[in-house]
Amino acid sequence: MRLYLEDSYATRFQAKVQRAWSDAEGHRAVLSQTLFYPEAGGQPADHGVLRGEFGEVRVLHVYEEEKAFGDVVHVLSAPIPEGAEVEGEIDWKRRFRHMQRHTAQHILSQALLRAGGYRTVAVSLDGPVCTVDLGEEVEEERVREAEALANYAVYADYPVRAFYVGESELSRYPLRRPPKVRGQVRLVEIGDFDLAACGGTHLKTSAQAGPIKVLRWERYKGGTRVHFMAGWEALEDYHAKHALLQRLALSFSTQPLDLEKPLKKLQEELYALKGENLALKEALVEALLPRALEEKTLLVPAPVLGELAKRLLAWGDGTFLLLSPEGRFALLGPRREEVFQRLKALGAKGGGKEIYQGALPRERVMEALEEVRDGAL
Ligand SMILES: [Zn+2]
Repeated sequence: MRLYLEDSYATRFQAKVQRAWSDAEGHRAVLSQTLFYPEAGGQPADHGVLRGEFGEVRVLHVYEEEKAFGDVVHVLSAPIPEGAEVEGEIDWKRRFRHMQRHTAQHILSQALLRAGGYRTVAVSLDGPVCTVDLGEEVEEERVREAEALANYAVYADYPVRAFYVGESELSRYPLRRPPKVRGQVRLVEIGDFDLAACGGTHLKTSAQAGPIKVLRWERYKGGTRVHFMAGWEALEDYHAKHALLQRLALSFSTQPLDLEKPLKKLQEELYALKGENLALKEALVEALLPRALEEKTLLVPAPVLGELAKRLLAWGDGTFLLLSPEGRFALLGPRREEVFQRLKALGAKGGGKEIYQGALPRERVMEALEEVRDGAL
């Protein structure tokens, strides 16, 4: 028996272990009744504990042996004996968040249908950022309207009620979503706002699902994927983003909502400086090139090392060694391998093809310069 269908706010229950077994993937048990919700319909499974004479084991995962009507299998941290009496307790904090995500999804799906005629074709409630997939491409204005409508439904504090009707009576009910099961069908009603066939766990009232925040949407499989957050998780997200904006605003001596202006200015300054830096580098390479061609071995600033080496490769004749004060080097020309071996003896590391690049210990730079110079490249 699935006790969560009767009362989604109950957290403890008594049961008997009907079946228990272990296999390569873990320890499992089926109970005479359970409050543990098995992963289904986009809603993740409950976690929690089972207690008994055997002690306490953790419930790590819960699934249906067969879809919809199969036994509910509990995956456990340790084996428990068949026939044992157990007390189960679900992780309420986790379940409540799942119910917030799930109930908010009912509300948002209905709001999207009302605002834009958008039909929900799939949902994912696996993480704090949930998604609903729509069969159509969307207009921004309609999605914003749906978000507002969903939050009005939250503030309206609609009661949420689950009840069963026979398959033959279903045509009398204006369902947002047709049932996936046959026989007695469980319907979930959110005031006069939404009605859908569903076997999941829901909040008592729509107010507990709020706030509902649409984060973004994108084209997906010919339709649209809408990302949203709800309840505590939306509030936590708001807190994290607000704290981040406040820290940023403080460092720019402005208000959170005025941040765009100084950031844009910073970006523009950065682009200007990058352009200036490039021009200076080019000028420096031009200025250093004649000396490098003449002296063959030269101490140069690290930022122009690579570019100067490339010029020498195009213009120079002979073997060249460029060293920066920090120990970076570029080496090219017919005798590069021979010079590289001498640098290696001083602790250099690196390599390459036409241009060898690498570094040697800073304190060996002057030594390397003199030794290679004496070798008269
Ligand atoms: Zn549901």
